[in-house]
Amino acid sequence: PVEEHTELQASGLVMQFGGLTAVNDVSLTLKPGEIFGLIGPNGSGKTTVMNMLSCVLKPTVGSVKLGGTELIGRKSNEVANFGIARTFQNIRLFPDLTVYQNVHVAALSTRGGKNAEARTYAALERLGLLDRADEDSGTLSYGDQRRVEIARALACEPTLLFLDEPAAGMNREETDDLMETLRKLCAELGIGILIVDHDLKLINELCDRVAVLNEGKMIAEGTPEQVRNNPAVVEAYLGR
Ligand code: ADP
Repeated sequence: PVEEHTELQASGLVMQFGGLTAVNDVSLTLKPGEIFGLIGPNGSGKTTVMNMLSCVLKPTVGSVKLGGTELIGRKSNEVANFGIARTFQNIRLFPDLTVYQNVHVAALSTRGGKNAEARTYAALERLGLLDRADEDSGTLSYGDQRRVEIARALACEPTLLFLDEPAAGMNREETDDLMETLRKLCAELGIGILIVDHDLKLINELCDRVAVLNEGKMIAEGTPEQVRNNPAVVEAYLGR
C-alpha cells in the first residue's frame, strides 16, 4: 500500500498478441485529481492499455510505476490495495445479489475488509444508489447497473479509478449525471480518473487531458481542445 497523492507513470508500454502489436510504445502519466481520457478508433489498443495499467495483462515490454513502485508482475487483485480500482466494458455484477451486496463484496475484498460496511455506504451515496440498495442488481436499468459497477470500484477507496466505457448504453441524461458524479470524485476526493470512451461529448466536457491512440500508437496528447484541432487526430479518427 502506498500513501495517497501518488502518480501513475507508464512508460514504453508494448503489447504483442502473437504477431500483432496491439500497443506500441505508449507512455502516459495519471495524477490524482485529474480526469484523463483515452480515445481512438475501435481496435486502437485502448482497453489493452487499461489492462496493462491495472495488471490484468502483463506488457511485452514497459513499466508501470505508482509513486515509484513497479506494478508490472503483480496480480490484478493486488493493485486494488495500491489504490487502483477499475470497471470493465462488460458489466460484471452478480445479478441475483442486491446492489448493497454487490458493492459490499468488493469492499470486503480490499484493504483487508476493514470498514467495509462504511466504505459500501459511502460509495452507494456517491453514486446516488442509497435508495436502490436492496434491489436485485439484475433488475436495474443498464445505466444504473453501470453506476453500481463504479460504486464497486469506489468502495475500494481508490486513489486512481479506471473506467472502460462507463457511459456505454446510457442516455444523455444518465451520461450528464455520471459526468457530474465523476467531477465530484475528482474535486472532493482528489481521485484521478482514467476514462476510455467513444462518447466525444463526454470526453470533451469531462477530461482535463486526452491522449489519442491509433493502431496502437499514441498520436496526440493534450487538452481536449488541442487534441480536437490536431490534424493527425482529425485524419486518423475524428474525420471518419
Ligand atoms: P480498443 O479498446 O481500442 O477497441 P483493444 O485494446 O481491445 O482496442 O484491441 C487492440 C488490438 O488488439 C485489436 O486488434 C484486438 O483485436 C487485439 N487484441 C486485444 N486483445 C487481444 C487478445 N487477448 N488476443 C489477441 N488479440 C487481442
